[in-house]
Order: sequence, then C-alpha cells, then structure tokens
Amino acid sequence: MAARIFLLEIRRLALAAGCGFVWGAVTAEWQQALMCFLAVLLFLWGWQLARVYHWFSHPEEFPPIGGPGMRGVLHDVYVLRSRAIQASSSSRRSQPYLKESLASMREAALIINDSSELLWCNDAAEYLLGVRFADEEGKRLSEIVSHPSLETYVDVNNFQKPLRIHRGAASEFCLQFEFSKFGADDRLVFVKDVTEQDRLERMRRDFVGNVSHELRTPLTVIKGYTETLQTLMPASDSTLQKSLSVMDTQLVRMESLVSDLLWLSSIESVEGERKEGQIDMEALLSDVVMELAAVWPSRVLDLQISSSQKILGDENELRSAISNLVVNALKYGENSPVVVKWIDTTVGPALLVEDKGLGIAAKHIPRLTERFYRVDKSRSLATGGTGLGLAIVKHVAVSHEAKLFVDSELGRGSCFRLVFPSSRVVASASGLGASDQR
Ligand code: ADP
Repeated sequence: MAARIFLLEIRRLALAAGCGFVWGAVTAEWQQALMCFLAVLLFLWGWQLARVYHWFSHPEEFPPIGGPGMRGVLHDVYVLRSRAIQASSSSRRSQPYLKESLASMREAALIINDSSELLWCNDAAEYLLGVRFADEEGKRLSEIVSHPSLETYVDVNNFQKPLRIHRGAASEFCLQFEFSKFGADDRLVFVKDVTEQDRLERMRRDFVGNVSHELRTPLTVIKGYTETLQTLMPASDSTLQKSLSVMDTQLVRMESLVSDLLWLSSIESVEGERKEGQIDMEALLSDVVMELAAVWPSRVLDLQISSSQKILGDENELRSAISNLVVNALKYGENSPVVVKWIDTTVGPALLVEDKGLGIAAKHIPRLTERFYRVDKSRSLATGGTGLGLAIVKHVAVSHEAKLFVDSELGRGSCFRLVFPSSRVVASASGLGASDQR
C-alpha cells in the first residue's frame, strides 16, 4: 500500500513537473515554469480536496483515490465508517425485535443507555415502577427509581450480582434489579418483585437467629449447674462424674452450634451491605495464626506473606472465615504442618490454607459449603465440628465478591483458596518475600 501511494504521488509530481518543463521550454522563463509547476500541483490538491468533501456528504460511495499522504488515511476512514454503518444498522434491525419480545414478557424490562438514561421500557415495568414511559423517557434511572444503592450500583458499573432494594413508605416492597450490557453500550434491566421471597428469607433468618438467641440463656444456666455438680460430686462416683463430663462436652458443642448459627444469621442479615473497611491482611493473618498457634501448641503453623495488598472488607467476617479455614486444616490435617499464604494472582490477591492430612474425595467437594454437610460425621463430631464452618466461609466469600476454591485429594491433603477480585484491593503490591515462620 505505502509503495503504491508513493508511486501515485511520484506520478502526480511528474505530471506537474512535466507541465512546468513544457512551459519553461516554450517560454524559456524558468521562474514562470516553477510557478506553473506549483499551480498544477495546487490544482490537483484542490480537486482532490473537493472530491473528499463530496465523499463526506455521500459516505455510501467509494472514497476518492486521495491526495498526497491521504490515500491510506481515507481508506482506513472508509473501512471504519463502513463497519460503524453496518454495526449500527444491524443493532437498529435487532432492536425492534428485542423490544417486541420484551414487550410481550410478564417480567418488567427496561433499556437504558451508558448514561443510564431510559430508552425504553415495557408495560410490566411501567406497572411495577408506577411510571409512564412517555413521561420518563430520557430521564436517568436514578431519577425514576430514587434509591442511593441503585445510584451507586449503576455508577460502580459492576453487575455481577443482582441488586435488591426496598421501597414503599415502610420499605415493605423489595425489588431486584438485574443488569446486562448489550449493543454498543446499552443495558437491559430486568426488575422483579421479590417481596415475598425476601419476606420468607428474612423470616427464616430471624427464626434461626431468635431460636439460637433464646437457647443461649438456658444453655448457660445448665452448663453452670453441670460445672457445679461436677465439683460437688465425689470423685469416687465415677459413673456420675462420667455422665456429667459427657453432659459438659455436649453442652460445649451446643454452645458452639448456637454461636455459629447466630454468627451466620448475623452475617446473612448484612450480606447486601458494602464492606468498605481497609483490611491489612498481613496483620490480620498474623493475628489469627498467633491466636491459633497458642491453642494448638503442638502443631506447625507456617504463615507466608508474599503480597502486601490490603483489601476492602469487614474485619470480623474475614477473621471468622480465616480462622474457620485454619481450624479445619488443624482438625483434619492429621498433624501435618498447616501453611497459610497470602499471595497475588492474576485476578487478585488470594488466601491459601493448605494441609497434608485426610483430604476430601471429589464427590464431596461441591457440597462442602452446605450447612451441616460433613464428609465424615463421626470424625467431625469428635473434633467438635458444628458443620457450619465452611458455610460461614462461603457467606463471607460471597459478601466480599471472593471465590472459594477447594483442591483436595483423599489421603493427600487439601488446599482451600479464597480469591478476592482486584476491585477489592486498596493498595497495590510493593515488596515481596516477607515470610514469617512459626
Ligand atoms: P465442621 O464444623 O464439621 O468442620 P465445616 O463446615 O467446617 O464443618 O466442614 C465441613 C466438612 O468438610 C467437615 O466435616 C470435614 O469433613 C470437611 N473438611 C473441611 N476442611 C477440611 C480439611 N482441611 N481437610 C479435610 N476435610 C475437611
């Protein structure tokens, strides 16, 4: 292409020079010949410019050959323009079809542009949001549905998780917004009335929370009496002492069950809230590892920090997730060293908890985070497990937009990975290699 343009320009210059030479030869005025040369060149350029202007007003035509240095540029402009015309006409062709199918849906659907202005909505959306399209067209979504969470959600532009908002005088309605991007930069928004679903979820949560809360006091009282009886009962009465000790063990188990259930319902109730605390993971991990090392003095806990990333999150939730993972590695790690790592990955920082213990058969892995799911019930009970530890970890992961991965092989050990998205990172990594051995 470049060689052809060069040749074309050489030909043009040769033509202008030829005209100048003929003029010079005829008149013997070489100054005039030079003028003639420049005039021909100017004429050629002017003519070319006129053709370019003509092409701008008739873009469907092929571009003119081009003036000096312009041919390649014009060709590129032509290709880009043709592509844009094609894309916009195919999007224009598909939009009526899309709108027609959305209009017939019972679900409320809206189309907004990249500035969040309403382009279209169906009857169901008008009914659900209590608006008329004719009055709202072109308005921003946050003006139509005024809610601070919706505004932030649209501004943040991360639509991985649907958004739930409460509306009404007493926040009695719950609407769920699901966004997906389409076309050049438009968004399709589905809105669902999930009031009933939300009410049932809240009832279940409240029920579990209330029952756990109510159980706490009687449990504490019974535990107190058991301890008193243990001290009052003569050591010689071994049968009674044994019964009291079993009672005490079961009471401790019930207490941890109640406190795990309470904690789970409390983190569930704030799941939708933004977790914006700046968490120094290095400090938090050192803290948790130090606490657990004191409880399990005979075990090796190796903390390796190779990332200095701080993340946005809730310290208490993260602390409980980390300690659940580490305690599991200690419980099911068969006395193997437990390695805790904070590393950088291509998608974001990650927490790794590794052990070389029992391992988990592949068939159990997908169900591990279900409440009360245990691979080996007797072992879990023997180690004082409640069956809620990984359910808590999963909840914390979801509320921090993190992903929990489990790599495990029976008899070889396990590695639990909690990978945080880079959007949660506060400061970028600097120094590497800080390592802390315990
Ligand atoms: P639990 O309180 O019973 O430990 P969790 O929810 O923490 O409940 O874990 C669920 C099950 O996953 C456990 O019962 C155990 O069988 C299995 N598990 C969890 N962590 C590990 C691990 N590091 N190695 C082997 N098995 C594990």
